[in-house]
Amino acid sequence: MWAADWTLTCEKTNFVETGPYSEAVYFCRRLADTFPDARMETFGTSPQGRPMVALVIGKAAPGKPTLFIQSGIHAGEIEGKDATLMLARDILVKGKHKDLVRKARLVIVPVFNLDGHERTSPYNRINQNGPASMGWRVTAQGFNLNRDYMKLDAPEMRAMLAFMRQCGTDAFMDNHTSDGGDWQFQMHYDVPRWPSQPASLVALSEDLNQSLAKKLDADGWPNAPYFGGIDPSHPERGASISPFSPRYSHGYAAVTDRVSVLVETHVMKPYKDRVLSTYDIDMRTWEWVAAHAAELTKARSSALRADAGAKEGDKLVLSARTSRVARPWIFKGWKYTPRDSAVTGAKVSAWTREPVDVESFIRDRFEPDVTVTLPAGYVVPAEWADKVAPVLGLHGVQFSRTQKARTIEADVTMLLEPRFPSTPFENRFMPAFKTGPGRRKVTLPVGSLVVPVGQRAMRVAAQLFEPQGQDSLLAWGFFNVVFEQKEGADAHNLEPIAAKMLEADPKLKAEFEEKLKDPAFANSPSARLDFFYRRSPYWDSRLGVYPVLRASGALIKELLPS
Ligand SMILES: [Zn+2]
Repeated sequence: MWAADWTLTCEKTNFVETGPYSEAVYFCRRLADTFPDARMETFGTSPQGRPMVALVIGKAAPGKPTLFIQSGIHAGEIEGKDATLMLARDILVKGKHKDLVRKARLVIVPVFNLDGHERTSPYNRINQNGPASMGWRVTAQGFNLNRDYMKLDAPEMRAMLAFMRQCGTDAFMDNHTSDGGDWQFQMHYDVPRWPSQPASLVALSEDLNQSLAKKLDADGWPNAPYFGGIDPSHPERGASISPFSPRYSHGYAAVTDRVSVLVETHVMKPYKDRVLSTYDIDMRTWEWVAAHAAELTKARSSALRADAGAKEGDKLVLSARTSRVARPWIFKGWKYTPRDSAVTGAKVSAWTREPVDVESFIRDRFEPDVTVTLPAGYVVPAEWADKVAPVLGLHGVQFSRTQKARTIEADVTMLLEPRFPSTPFENRFMPAFKTGPGRRKVTLPVGSLVVPVGQRAMRVAAQLFEPQGQDSLLAWGFFNVVFEQKEGADAHNLEPIAAKMLEADPKLKAEFEEKLKDPAFANSPSARLDFFYRRSPYWDSRLGVYPVLRASGALIKELLPS
């Protein structure tokens, strides 16, 4: 069906078209069947029944890093598929880069969102300049895989995490196409180097970041950090780059102690240039990984060892933010010529293709945002185990199950003033809330989960369980029922109880009278009754209590006697 000369649809059509998923599978299988240096792996099945395939080039060896390159997580942004298949062909068929294959192994996933890839249409990406027909952003089940790295709703993601771990991934790349305004930059990229990562990996990532900028300049691709916040009428006012939480591919790489690169070629550039520039950045990253093989594997294993040694009382930067520090930066724009629109009644952005280099600045330094003091571990009561344990297993987080039931007085996290959005996000309703301390009697049945922080997956465990984690299980709505009041009091039953409480407790009476100074409260019979219901023994003691305990070493010892 496909050409015997190892050319791809994109090349045969001068980059007007891209091939179907079956071309990528055929190409990988044929390379694997022909060359002993390559192996094809099938690591899962998509919801529509397609095989998830990867091409592995080079043998694993101690101290030899693995670079994992993934494309088509957003299947319409597909130049990474063609670029990596061309790279594989150049390595295997043309016999190029033999020294690199010896120094660093490559794993290529040509298309991650394969069902989305086959939902092809010329009308899938209104902003994008080719190919003629392209895939769809989300999976057949409607999930954006690049928001799913922590909650793991998509079968494709569950297969992917297991495969990435099985490959011993040290460095990771995710190839995309950006959206946004028009400018000279052919591509953007982001290399995570946040204070939420181990310092040794931040230093190496900084080296990779600078190396890529230089190499891509030399390759002739105008490039920039993956910036936001630029005002097209005032680019001199600057831009900034932001850290990404672990729901994103490179945010997840950061919490799993991997060096990573997010690639975003510019959406309005021709498909051919997008394929060729992706080829170059993937190639340059592979060269860097090969040249830094020893440092990279050493830094990663020492980071994992340090995480395994984490203990109660250690500080962990849970999330980072962009600092105010700015450095000079040249914004390579086009001449901005906004025009009036009869459709909108306002200005619409427009550019001529006249290059304009503007002296501006960029904020690309980071500082800690939320820092937590680690507990000795997290304890999940048994009634939540069926929801939580599978997620832990998929992330490679270690845990034990208790053998004896316990009821204890414990410090808990109270979830206060919850608010919910009116529309779902990625099929979930993500609560917003404040947190406060509480103390409750807690029952921990047999089979409760004990998750120690001292483990290689410490950062993932903390992100999943810390109540302030942006992508915690709590944030993603796994525990939404704890916000629901399940019983209500009828006024004719509660009122006499409230009257007795008022009579019996002068302190409560004073508190109530103080509250009555608020007219809204005073004029609401139900609010006045609710004041007493909440303070009565009838109130649900589990309402608004985060069920996961941040446990001390003493409690864990009690739960898991050795
Ligand atoms: Zn994308």
